[in-house]
Amino acid sequence: MSSRVVLLGPPGAGKGTQASLIAEGGAGAHIASGDLFRKHLGEGTELGALAKTYMDKGELVPDDVTIRMVLERMEEPDARDGYVLDGFPRTLEQAKALDAALEDQGRGIDAALLIEVESEELVRRLAGRWICRRCQAPYHEAFSPPRTTGCCDSCGGELYQRDDDKPDVVRARLETYERQTAPLVGYYESQGKLARVNGQQSVERVTEDLEAAFGA
Ligand code: ADP
Ligand code: ADP
Ligand code: ZN
Repeated sequence: MSSRVVLLGPPGAGKGTQASLIAEGGAGAHIASGDLFRKHLGEGTELGALAKTYMDKGELVPDDVTIRMVLERMEEPDARDGYVLDGFPRTLEQAKALDAALEDQGRGIDAALLIEVESEELVRRLAGRWICRRCQAPYHEAFSPPRTTGCCDSCGGELYQRDDDKPDVVRARLETYERQTAPLVGYYESQGKLARVNGQQSVERVTEDLEAAFGA
């Protein structure tokens, strides 16, 4: 069944891992703002170069360009009935822009799901994360290794470690999350749309809890 879901949570909580599983389960298109920026970066676009200056510092890319990029992606046919937003919105301004755009279509999101994980665990996860250069699927060298070292299970692409997963940038990203994104928890709570899920369980258990929370 298709749904319109927002995944919230700090860097390393498992948003990308879970968004792709929930999307494959039939919720709709997996739309990840970070993946879209990295795609621009890989293609050498102007937007990619702009985004990199913020990503390298663990700061957020400005709202106007981010909102435009994600809302445009949401217009594509695969997202017509449902989507899982991963990493967007990340500021109140983005959340309000999303609500306004959906309201114009007489719609709203169905649920905002917060994946909760302690910060020491986040640091461990990000330090061991490898992602696919081609499809951006995330792996972990200890917690969810690929079948063949250095090679993506789903597309065969080459795995690499993100520059912004280095410890000093991770620290900055966690601070950015607390300052700019954590306030969204209250925003969705006051709309009666927030559900909290314990992210420190196996990948399978987290998926089950998320799907139960939005009624898949
Ligand atoms: P994470 O794995 O930490 O959740 P992402 O891949 O979602 O990371 O994001 C990587 C970087 O891309 C962020 O640190 C930020 O610079 C930029 N970014 C991604 N999504 C957004 C957004 N919604 N608003 C602003 N910047 C974003
Ligand atoms: P986010 O998109 O929120 O930054 P990811 O989905 O990329 O998070 O996950 C961060 C890292 O943690 C990856 O290396 C991933 O393989 C690993 N990971 C994801 N979910 C779990 C889990 N439930 N238990 C252990 N490791 C996990
Ligand atoms: Zn891949």
